[in-house]
Amino acid sequence: MWHGQHGRAFWDTAAGRQILTLDLIFRKISEAQQSFINTAAQRGIHLACPPGCGSCCHGFMPDVLPVEADYIAYFLLSHEAHTTGEPVLAYDAFSVRAEDNPSPCPFHDPERPGHNCRIYEARPLVCRLFGFSSTQTKTGRTVYRLCRHMPTPPGLRERILSEEALLQRIGATPPLMGSFAMELLAIDPSRASERRPLSESLPSALARIAGTLHYCPDEPNAA
Ligand code: SF4
Repeated sequence: MWHGQHGRAFWDTAAGRQILTLDLIFRKISEAQQSFINTAAQRGIHLACPPGCGSCCHGFMPDVLPVEADYIAYFLLSHEAHTTGEPVLAYDAFSVRAEDNPSPCPFHDPERPGHNCRIYEARPLVCRLFGFSSTQTKTGRTVYRLCRHMPTPPGLRERILSEEALLQRIGATPPLMGSFAMELLAIDPSRASERRPLSESLPSALARIAGTLHYCPDEPNAA
């Protein structure tokens, strides 16, 4: 786990506790998505992004809450090769700003093998949910839409599935986007209105987390 690298003092701060809470929520999302994918696979329906796709990042800059920016800032600052004590250097070391990059997001790297995201482990909520989450209609009905870049897997006729169709064909529903969005808002309701584009939020988050880490040196015997 990348968040095990600092001593307990950091995790006792408000920022540290919020990062840990967000980490738990992100793990819950991964488990719910994996369970949905596995249940579908047991019925012979293989749901997966096309290899090396990354199209969901094209022309897209995620909006993030302050706690998501803090989470990414901590990820950047805690990576050994980039731990310079200078937040701006850590950000520059990770960001890619090639002119022909189809994404405005500073962390999208179309040349990167595997995931095109250079902060994949720390990516924001919206990036995690894309392709493997359900939404609710105005009447409160759950619906799952296959990403337009995802081929229709054998065994599935529709590309838009109601909850009834999901339960009938797959036997499970993917995590509901709205309920996880609410869980994130509940981490720090006082900053719920401060959702900003990632590139705008990150510089202040880096300064905030770097400052907190500065006053929380590693504790040699911390768990
Ligand atoms: S944070 Fe990562 S997954 Fe999200 S838009 Fe940027 S490159 Fe894509």
